Amino acid sequence: MYDCIIVGAGVAGAVAARKLAEEKGKRVLVLERRGHVGGNCYDEQDEHGILVHSYGPHIFHTGMEDVFAYFSRFTDWHLFGHEVVAKVYGRLIPVPFNLNTLHLVYDEALGKERADELERKLIRIYGEGSRISITKLRESEDPDVREIARYVYENVFLKYTMKQWGQRPEEISPEVTGRVPVLISYDNRYFQDKYQGVPRDGFTPMFQKMLEHENITVVTGIDCKERLCFSEDGIYLDGVLFEGDVIYTGALDELFDCRYGRLPYRSLDFKFEYHNEESYQGHSVVNYTVSEDFTRITEFKFLTGQQGVDGTTIVKEYPFAYTGAAGEIPYYAILNEENRSLYEKYCALTAGWERFHLLGRLAEYQYYNIDAMAKKAMELAGRL
Ligand SMILES: Cc1cc2nc3c(=O)[nH]c(=O)nc-3n(C[C@H](O)[C@H](O)[C@H](O)COP(=O)(O)OP(=O)(O)OC[C@H]3O[C@@H](n4cnc5c(N)ncnc54)[C@H](O)[C@@H]3O)c2cc1C
Repeated sequence: MYDCIIVGAGVAGAVAARKLAEEKGKRVLVLERRGHVGGNCYDEQDEHGILVHSYGPHIFHTGMEDVFAYFSRFTDWHLFGHEVVAKVYGRLIPVPFNLNTLHLVYDEALGKERADELERKLIRIYGEGSRISITKLRESEDPDVREIARYVYENVFLKYTMKQWGQRPEEISPEVTGRVPVLISYDNRYFQDKYQGVPRDGFTPMFQKMLEHENITVVTGIDCKERLCFSEDGIYLDGVLFEGDVIYTGALDELFDCRYGRLPYRSLDFKFEYHNEESYQGHSVVNYTVSEDFTRITEFKFLTGQQGVDGTTIVKEYPFAYTGAAGEIPYYAILNEENRSLYEKYCALTAGWERFHLLGRLAEYQYYNIDAMAKKAMELAGRL
């Protein structure tokens, strides 16, 4: 009955399913454990009629024309330049740190003239419009530049990263520090991609539409192991050896009952709050970089552009170490050598299944943005 089976109806599963069904004429069975499609991009209206992202705020952003065009077949967009501010000792400053931030921080403390001087110096050394890592700034011979780097490291990066990853400062890898940018421009946007926004009616309808195809059968609320048996001599669907392609987008360790131990992840506890007021914080995302146990607060109305509802819903994110306990969700793979080699050990167990494909943030033990995930799914479907 089916040519392909896909486990998981998130970005990876949904894009691959549609491509295979539509362009390759394959009959695709999608098995999804949750009661809905869309994976972690899933959104729904809460009891107050406010559209919320149940698994954390998601903003689609991409510079890839083909990915944007593909998604646009299934949705219109609410496009905007996504901006984030950080709350630092009571003051809101734009992040990543840019020239606007520089003036907010230094105009008052050092005087406007001195702040202008610092700006000119950054432009002279690095060039207007450039993007410099704080590692590079920290290595500068110029004490003014090093002071700016210190400010960013201590007030924007350090405590936020410690909360997010549960690490002590000495455990934070230089690779991570090296990715923290400072923008030598007045661009307050968090991403610099050409397209940024959310599907106008939400992510869920977009994925539902993507999966609506005569060649696609979606079954939700089912763990794949209820229908599939992964045995050494092959993969069985309802007890019959399945000869087609199987795309697995779930956690790889779970597939093998975590026999070598769990792959480590960070998880998040999302605390939603409804407030009977027009606006809670006046911004879509506020990062708490020096205080509080949560990392950020998202106010959904400012992200989705939803109008005509009373009150506002926010979510606070509390990071913690994933243990695999019921109800916990593995969100961020903890990438280091030890964990990668554990992942490879699990990968080796799949070597005998010729038409078995690992795809997605869980199956590949890798962080992907939505656009990169879609691109990989498109490429895999194209190859099959
Ligand atoms: C907090 C957070 C915020 C993010 N924000 C952004 C953002 O703003 N912009 C952006 O581009 N990206 C963002 N991302 C990344 C984005 O979520 C991923 O790119 C995307 O979810 C990857 O899709 P996926 O299909 O690989 O995984 P998922 O969305 O996790 O989908 C996998 C699906 O497989 C199902 N599944 C797993 N095991 C089984 C099983 N045994 N049987 C049946 N089904 C199973 C799961 O239920 C799930 O629905 C964010 C990620 C996180 C954690």
